Amino acid sequence: MGRGLLVLGGLLLLGFSFGYSRLPRPSDPRIEASLGAVGVETGGSYAWILRTAHGAALVDCGADSRGGAIVAELSREGLSPADVHTVLLTHGHRDHWAACALFPQAKVRVGPGEGAYLRGEKRFSSLAVLGEHLYPGLTLPARLSELADGETLDVDGEAIRVVAVPGHTPGSVAFLWKDLLFTGDALLRQGKGVGPAPTFLSEDADLARASLRRLVALPFTRIADGHTGVTEDARQKLERALR
Ligand SMILES: [Zn+2]
Repeated sequence: MGRGLLVLGGLLLLGFSFGYSRLPRPSDPRIEASLGAVGVETGGSYAWILRTAHGAALVDCGADSRGGAIVAELSREGLSPADVHTVLLTHGHRDHWAACALFPQAKVRVGPGEGAYLRGEKRFSSLAVLGEHLYPGLTLPARLSELADGETLDVDGEAIRVVAVPGHTPGSVAFLWKDLLFTGDALLRQGKGVGPAPTFLSEDADLARASLRRLVALPFTRIADGHTGVTEDARQKLERALR
């Protein structure tokens, strides 16, 4: 019985490693995505820092619970973790929110229904769930609340539109800021094009693909995703991927 479980655990871990090895790799430790938006690589995933009038907002806060690269980038801008007023999470996988508790002033926002996964009331079922064990004992953000599909947020004067893209996780969302679309793991660079995360790592891969149709009509030119960085001409690439 014990040995069977061990073998099963080993197989699941192998599957997980294989799945993650198929995710495109980070392209750069620091990316200037746009004027006022910088991405930092945090140990496999990106956190995006948006400079705003009175501090900074983050889109995802990365896989490093000590937040080293984020804190260093804030400090370059003359800011501290206490100046982060908002954290927008693309989804509830822990490699995207491990550092959230480092920002004591921040309102942390997640997509519809995703809060239950952060609080541990619901569990993900894809192989990505094995990755959750890499981040034991994370502190839940104190000021966590959910977003509504289609709402436009006023984030310290910056208009950011929320678009639900369920599938990778049930409450995955993308954020449109100017012509830049933050996509988390819903849409990633893949070779010369773009596409959804590998099937194994998504809760409902068919829905994840169908949800991408919701993005085509948005006025973006580039995406900033959760694992590869920035992709130019991303809307045309998405149109090609959906043909
Ligand atoms: Zn994910």
